[in-house]
Amino acid sequence: MLEKCQLAANEIQALNVLNNQTVTGALNGIELNTVSRTIVTDSTGKTIYDSLVYDPDASSYPLYPEIIQALRGNDVFTWNYRDKHMESKAAIPIYSFGQLTGCVYITELDPQQGLLIGSLQSNMLTLTVILEIAVVIFSLIYASVYSGRFKKIMHSIRTARAGDYTNKIDMSGNDELTGLSNEFNDLINRLHKSERKRQQFVSDASHELKTPLASIKLLSDSILQNQMDEETVKEFVGDIGNEAERLNRMSQKLLNLAKTESQADIDCEIVYIAPTIEKVCRMLKTLASTHSVSIQINKIKDATILVQEDDLYQIIFNLVENGIKYNKAGGTLDITLNRSGDSVCIIIADSGMGIPEESLEHIFERFYRVDKARSRSTGGSGLGLSIVRSMVERNKGTIQVESTVDVGTTFYLEFPVFDMEDTDDEV
Ligand code: ADP
Repeated sequence: MLEKCQLAANEIQALNVLNNQTVTGALNGIELNTVSRTIVTDSTGKTIYDSLVYDPDASSYPLYPEIIQALRGNDVFTWNYRDKHMESKAAIPIYSFGQLTGCVYITELDPQQGLLIGSLQSNMLTLTVILEIAVVIFSLIYASVYSGRFKKIMHSIRTARAGDYTNKIDMSGNDELTGLSNEFNDLINRLHKSERKRQQFVSDASHELKTPLASIKLLSDSILQNQMDEETVKEFVGDIGNEAERLNRMSQKLLNLAKTESQADIDCEIVYIAPTIEKVCRMLKTLASTHSVSIQINKIKDATILVQEDDLYQIIFNLVENGIKYNKAGGTLDITLNRSGDSVCIIIADSGMGIPEESLEHIFERFYRVDKARSRSTGGSGLGLSIVRSMVERNKGTIQVESTVDVGTTFYLEFPVFDMEDTDDEV
């Protein structure tokens, strides 16, 4: 297009005089048959030649943007799509002896290019419509799938809020909602477990408290309803006192256990273990001699640990007391303290009646007693070892048990050593 325009400009540039006749003559000599319109203007923009007007008006100024640009000395080419045709426009300035004397402007209508652009345009339109429909359908499907999954989650949250923890979310996939559902399932699992534990605790506690209360009621009714001699009344009142004492011990232990389980943060201190063991043995000396049990302490190597001192005392106390209570007359209780590497081990081994294998996994449960009758006679509540386990755990220790019926029971307590500077006590 620009070449054709340049060709015409070259022909006109060679003319001495620029007027309609000379320009018509010059342009007749060149091939411009695909061109739909040719305009030649002088330097002011006035038409000298217009292929669509045989004798152009002397005062006509076809000031198309391309002509204005060409009269400023620029070669111009533009195109647009109109009426299924591609319309191209070109304008080139004409110079004579270095002076701008006018410009040539030509336009060309190309139906073939127009057809191509038209079909491209309609293809793009179809594609856009298809894409928009696809986006709308996809959004609707996505929204409905998402809202369905949200409804599932909301339903489970509502049922869990109402106290039903069995309604877990069944969600497949690998996205955030699946992650959220798994977290929620985990949460309600824990809630369910702790709710079951709470219910079990309430029912166990009320059952345990009911027994001594029923005995007290029975004994007091017997005193009131029957004619008894003073000796029997004294005996019955003594029994009532024992039952009341048992209730008192049990409520103390329950309070202790509740406090231990609810208190996660404790004030720890650096403690030597050997003095605590000795203190416990001093306290239980009378009980040991009542049961004819001899206590032996083997301090191989003491160590310092970071615990709450009262907890350590209570742990050792409960285990030593059990070792005496569930021992045989003339039996032994060995307490061994030994440090090995980064941990210190306290071994409490008795030569008592032992614990049957099937009971070993239950002895740390609340209110669990191997032999209810035997334990009651020793004043046991079934809470001592659950308190021990809670305390051991919150002081970052571990506890294990081994037992053989009629041979004895051994408890292994282990705590991480907390070394103080310049401390290495051999005892
Ligand atoms: P209790 O207050 O009844 O002693 P514990 O929680 O301390 O409760 O112990 C739970 C049960 O484990 C006891 O009833 C007893 O049957 C059994 N047990 C605990 N320690 C020993 C032991 N050293 N030897 C034999 N049995 C034991």
